[in-house]
Amino acid sequence: MLQGKTAVVTGAAKGIGKAIALAFAKEGCNIVLNYHSSVSDETIKEIEDCGVKCMPVKGDVGDFEFAAQLVKDVKKEFKTLDILVNNAGITSDMLLMRMSEEQFDKVIHTNLKGTFNMIRHASSLMLKQRSGAIINMASVVGVTGNVGQANYAASKAGIIGLTKSTAKELAQRGVTCNAIAPGFVETDMTAVLPEDVQKQMLETIPLKRYGQVEDIANAAVFFAKNTYITGQVLNVDGGMVM
Ligand code: NAP
Repeated sequence: MLQGKTAVVTGAAKGIGKAIALAFAKEGCNIVLNYHSSVSDETIKEIEDCGVKCMPVKGDVGDFEFAAQLVKDVKKEFKTLDILVNNAGITSDMLLMRMSEEQFDKVIHTNLKGTFNMIRHASSLMLKQRSGAIINMASVVGVTGNVGQANYAASKAGIIGLTKSTAKELAQRGVTCNAIAPGFVETDMTAVLPEDVQKQMLETIPLKRYGQVEDIANAAVFFAKNTYITGQVLNVDGGMVM
């Protein structure tokens, strides 16, 4: 069903983004792999070994012009942009009273503005095609809030509002936009948390295990395949938030 389509995945050198890129490659999609600092040859080979093309593109999704150029390059190389996964994201945790302006701005820049930038440029192509699936990475924290994560929670709540507005604006041309809200997934992002915090988190997960990157990748493929679902936020969190 997704064979031959073009999927752009941001922040895809590792973690959830890499798993999503691989999952779409296994479905037969050509992959545009956006990375920020570096990507290993091994990761690119893993994708190409699925029998698809992999186009690595280095850059900051928070840069409006970079996002514009990326979409132009995708159009030139593949003609269509069928699936956009806005996965790139960062944390910079601090209690509100001690959070610097820079900490707030950089998280909003990457997570929220980066998602806007990519949607802003990719959507014009999708509207012309009269098809496309946009999948944004939110977080359960964007719904519940979290101590020490005012910047991150605000960025993820913003992504949910952005997702629903985009879904409403693009629906008439057959373009869908949905969000995934992961709970606690084992990646570099969560590995930095102290062990006692990780254990406390486990207590709050009814399924009593941490999420794996493949759990999130499966949800992304699900959204790309279901053209009658739009404007939704899917919690993939082991039951953490009900
Ligand atoms: P990760 O392992 O830290 O990966 C994040 C990726 O984003 C990295 O490859 C990073 O590249 C890239 N990135 C950072 N800033 C970027 C920028 N400005 N432009 C392009 N790429 C950039 O994190 P993860 O756990 O896989 O998280 C992926 C997404 O899921 C994020 O949006 C995160 O908020 C969300 N999420 C994760 C969890 C979880 O439990 N892990 C839970 C809820 C939501 P560099 O390292 O090179 O900067």
